[in-house]
Amino acid sequence: MCAKGDISLQRVKVLVTRQWPQAVERDMREIFDVTFNTSDTPMTHDDFRAAFQNFDAIFPTVSDSIPADAYGVENRRVRLLANFGVGYNHIDIPAAHAAGITVTNTPGVLTDCTADLAMGLLLCTARRIGEGERELRKGKWVGWRPTHMIGAKVTGATLGIIGFGRIGQAVAQRAHHGFGMKIVFYNRSTIAPDIAAHTGAQQLGSVTDVMAASDFVSLHCPGGDETRHVIDAQALAAMKPTGFLINTARGDVVDETALITALKNGEIAGAGLDVYAQEPKIPSDLKALENVVLAPHLGSATDATREAMGCMAFNNARAFFDGKTPSNLVQG
Ligand code: NAP
Repeated sequence: MCAKGDISLQRVKVLVTRQWPQAVERDMREIFDVTFNTSDTPMTHDDFRAAFQNFDAIFPTVSDSIPADAYGVENRRVRLLANFGVGYNHIDIPAAHAAGITVTNTPGVLTDCTADLAMGLLLCTARRIGEGERELRKGKWVGWRPTHMIGAKVTGATLGIIGFGRIGQAVAQRAHHGFGMKIVFYNRSTIAPDIAAHTGAQQLGSVTDVMAASDFVSLHCPGGDETRHVIDAQALAAMKPTGFLINTARGDVVDETALITALKNGEIAGAGLDVYAQEPKIPSDLKALENVVLAPHLGSATDATREAMGCMAFNNARAFFDGKTPSNLVQG
């Protein structure tokens, strides 16, 4: 599965916080003295404090809640947090670095599948596929008719992207070349014209400009303090009432309460969500709305991608304990 070479690092004690693809777990066992989370339930704060004392490396992931005081815990042993995932907003990077802990992540290998899921949510939401399926399963469908469950046309519409990095660009490629969509985007740094040109994309000056210009807006910036509630009531108010919001980034990028209000009041037409503010808790008001499609954080959930993520995290750790620089260091 993962390229392992012939080194053995059995002196290195590592902890994997959630169940991983079997093939990757097998490879890890061959190299490291590894402890797996066989119950696959979330670790408690006490578990994390103890893990920081008892392991050389921890392989955390997005569903982990690492307590703030773990980084400075007495007799800390951990030297590496090899994250399973590209997003690392669940790790306090300044605290980790201040404590001398190296952090790595898994960029790139989940780009295609996350972009595919964003397009899936966009299509499902625009064409009311979730709502239609619910009607059909309830036995309420009475047959084809010209005015039944009319959705929004995707082909040729304008897609706004917030965060034009790997996944944002992959969504733009799909939307532009597959669906003839016009692309506008907001990104803090300027994107090189040749990269934007692949999708005929136009960089706009603010989030509000993108919200106002778009029929669909898809979020692809990182989560964390800097992007918390980038999509707030004001940003939502800038959208067209016919507009749709797609979020496969992180739940805290959107003010969920403001989103629910906008959806209820018809200020926007619908939303397709993969991520939530308090996962796995979903507000009942959100679940009650027909004009939303709700996925349980499935962005990277394919065999090939989850195995590639596991191998990348594993190889980052192998390099680190072999005295080399891991390929995917998270910088400060
Ligand atoms: P990336 O290549 O680093 O792209 C992130 C982009 O966001 C960069 O272009 C960055 O550029 C921009 N950005 C940062 N802060 C911003 C802000 N305040 N406003 C607008 N743009 C901002 O990361 P990626 O690989 O595309 O991943 C993006 C995110 O997707 C991850 O961080 C993760 O949270 C999420 N994700 C979710 C799933 C899922 O399962 N749903 C799967 C994979 C990833 P500047 O810094 O220059 O602005």
